[in-house]
Amino acid sequence: MKKNLICISCPLGCSLDVIYEPNKIISVDGATCKRGKAYAEKEIFNPERVVTSTVKIKGASIDLLPVKTDTTVGKCLMKKVMEEVFRIEVKAPVKVGEVICKNIAGTGANLVATRSLEAN
Ligand code: SF4
Repeated sequence: MKKNLICISCPLGCSLDVIYEPNKIISVDGATCKRGKAYAEKEIFNPERVVTSTVKIKGASIDLLPVKTDTTVGKCLMKKVMEEVFRIEVKAPVKVGEVICKNIAGTGANLVATRSLEAN
């Protein structure tokens, strides 16, 4: 199988042409350094993302608090994370960086506030 990826491990953003089998990388062309192959391997076999979203907040000037996970989570777990995010409701005040939900959906990542909101 073939896939073209952009390595996002550094600002250079190398275009990677990857040939792979179900369980292994055969070749990676276009990487300027060896981190490109590691990136391709992770992206193809175990892709992860930081989840960004909002949760409901009571008693603040706005109804939604922006949040994100403090580390990446497997793409296959993002639906579970979002289901939990939709159920969360917090009360103002909240400080930026405050943990809103520890170990969200059992991923090992914490959900944290990305802005402060004062109480009304
Ligand atoms: S392959 Fe190396 S040089 Fe290219 S974007 Fe990835 S980390 Fe940067």
